[in-house]
Amino acid sequence: MKASSGALIQALVALSLAGLSVSKDFDFFYFVQQWPGSYCDTQQSCCYPTTGKPAPDFGVHGLWPNYNDGTYPSNCDSSNPFDQSKVSDLISKMQKDWPTLACPSGDGVTFWSHEWDKHGTCSEDVLDQHSYFSKALALKTQTNLLQALTTAGIEANGGSYSLSSIKSAIQSGVGYTPFVECNSDESGNSQLYQVYLCVDNSGSKLIECPVFPNGKCGSQIEFPSF
Ligand code: 5GP
Ligand code: 5GP
Repeated sequence: MKASSGALIQALVALSLAGLSVSKDFDFFYFVQQWPGSYCDTQQSCCYPTTGKPAPDFGVHGLWPNYNDGTYPSNCDSSNPFDQSKVSDLISKMQKDWPTLACPSGDGVTFWSHEWDKHGTCSEDVLDQHSYFSKALALKTQTNLLQALTTAGIEANGGSYSLSSIKSAIQSGVGYTPFVECNSDESGNSQLYQVYLCVDNSGSKLIECPVFPNGKCGSQIEFPSF
């Protein structure tokens, strides 16, 4: 009797651990970058960081664990909140490459905390806080979206470009097919807002996206200046 209830407890513990690890699992990451000009020229407008106006370049929005069916986990571990001291060597690069544009102006900590708490905690088994932020920064440098677009003659000058030319420029420069998300400027024009690329679930390499987010741009979209 004693032995069998011990075995039962062991089995229950094993089951619940398996359940926990399944619920924390994910299939791949979206690596999402935002064009600051398209965050700022909307009705909502934007606020520059307290550290100054960012350079006219794509900035990191986040690295988001996702499932192949399009759903995603979030806020997976409240016991492991963002801790600036764990990324102190990365802060100056984060200020440059992962600037916050939300109002009121901030130094970025609120944005980075939000991204870690909501998304990063769901991949903490593969990327701890330092690895999560340094991986995202490395991906930003590696993908160099602005360079890919510039090389194809696509410039942030308020001009209108075909969505297909933007996608092929990124495909040529980066080597993988992006998902392009649009938003609307104050006059309602569809414009290039965010670019999604996919990363395998160990965070080690770019992959073709298993699934794309929902949403549609027009066939011609604006690339506003910043
Ligand atoms: P929105 O509704 O503005 O598209 O997204 C709001 C937030 O939801 C995003 O900033 C992100 O945190 C989360 N989110 C939206 N779509 C996805 C998705 O496809 N995958 C993941 N992992 N998060 C998403
Ligand atoms: P999401 O849940 O969409 O990943 O995160 C967006 C949240 O981060 C919102 O609460 C938004 O106010 C905040 N945030 C702070 N700075 C930025 C920024 O530069 N871009 C975006 N998209 N959200 C920001």
